[in-house]
Amino acid sequence: MSTTNLAIAGGPPVRTKPYPEWPTADERERELLLEVLDSRRWWATQGTKVREFEAAWAGFHGAESSIAVTNGSHTLEIALLALGVGEGDEVIVPNWTFFATVAAVLMVNAVPVLVDVDPDTGCIDPGAVRAAIGPRTRAVIPVHIAGSVADMDAITAIAREHDLVVVEDCAHAHGSTWRGTPVGMLGDAGSYSFQSSKLMTGGEGGAIVSRHRDVLDVARSLSDCGRRPGEWFYSHYLLGGNYRMTEWQGAVLLAQLERFPEQQRNRARNAEMLNRELASIPGIHPQGRLAGCTSQGNYCYVVRVEESDFGLDRDTLREALLAEGIPLTMAYPPLTRLDVFSDPDGLSPRVRSKRGMSDFPSLSLPVSERMADTTLWFTTSVLMGTEDDARDVVRAVRKVMEHRMEIPSRG
Ligand SMILES: *Cc1c(COP(=O)(O)O)cnc(C)c1O
Repeated sequence: MSTTNLAIAGGPPVRTKPYPEWPTADERERELLLEVLDSRRWWATQGTKVREFEAAWAGFHGAESSIAVTNGSHTLEIALLALGVGEGDEVIVPNWTFFATVAAVLMVNAVPVLVDVDPDTGCIDPGAVRAAIGPRTRAVIPVHIAGSVADMDAITAIAREHDLVVVEDCAHAHGSTWRGTPVGMLGDAGSYSFQSSKLMTGGEGGAIVSRHRDVLDVARSLSDCGRRPGEWFYSHYLLGGNYRMTEWQGAVLLAQLERFPEQQRNRARNAEMLNRELASIPGIHPQGRLAGCTSQGNYCYVVRVEESDFGLDRDTLREALLAEGIPLTMAYPPLTRLDVFSDPDGLSPRVRSKRGMSDFPSLSLPVSERMADTTLWFTTSVLMGTEDDARDVVRAVRKVMEHRMEIPSRG
């Protein structure tokens, strides 16, 4: 008699049918792309698609305008520069985020200060922000991890009190709101990415939103060689670069945005079901969401695994779930563990000699380390099918728990 139930031990998987593929596209992308092709205006300076997308993305935020650029790394740099952050300024960054958040700070010659995150949401801990403020602190970059919005009431209050600017890293949070306001419009600027894994994508791409007209004007100029709209082509008013989006990306993103609200409603429904169902499994803790987070764009679906209650460690559960046909990506390592910060050659001499930057690998930021080591990141695809498709996540986690003794020991 076979005693194998788990796919990782040779049994049949919960799912053989693949989840919906990401990214998605249909005739609408094709139609708009062909319009661009036939127009021979592939350049945003002459075309209409990027401008249309900027207007639509601004409308989505209740904003006057938005600035579409190359990617969501450049948006962070441009937003910091447009807000006057640079040489010698300290910028507070959560230790649990993608590398681009901290790299942007270094790219504008400012000094990143890493702080810990909240154990429930995984987003920057406002208490840690407050404790990290010094005389040179100029900015803070909250990251809305997996669309769960950081505590923007606390962060904007701290920023007002200490005269800091707030750049929201919204790369995971298309469609997230805080007390009804779209993310990116709570701080002084918001940075979006449209890279391939994000909730809307043009392959690459990024956009800056802001409540401040002057910040958008400077961001526009910085992203277009320092030009000013309407002025002679060879007049350059600021030290800007070419960070322009192409019309191809603008076309695809217009189609992606049209489809976004319906996709997001479906993802949110499935995520709420998973939150309820998975919370009843011992040792499985769905990512928390603050009361102020009135809507959550689900870049991915995150749960924390408490090994002592579940009976397996995160990595073993992860492998068993992958074998069951459940797609997962990797959780971010904490920034303090990245090679670039431990290798003496990883940072440019200019950055290395910067006074005031702490030795990241020696920092102790235990919550972010625990989040990196104990969370599972299900890809957004698990939320993109029917409710029954999403329920396979619950079935798989329960199955692995019930049959965990079958897993060959890993030592
Ligand atoms: C994806 C991402 C970025 C960078 O965006 P790119 O468009 O890939 O440059 C920045 N911050 C976070 C949190 C991200 O997930």
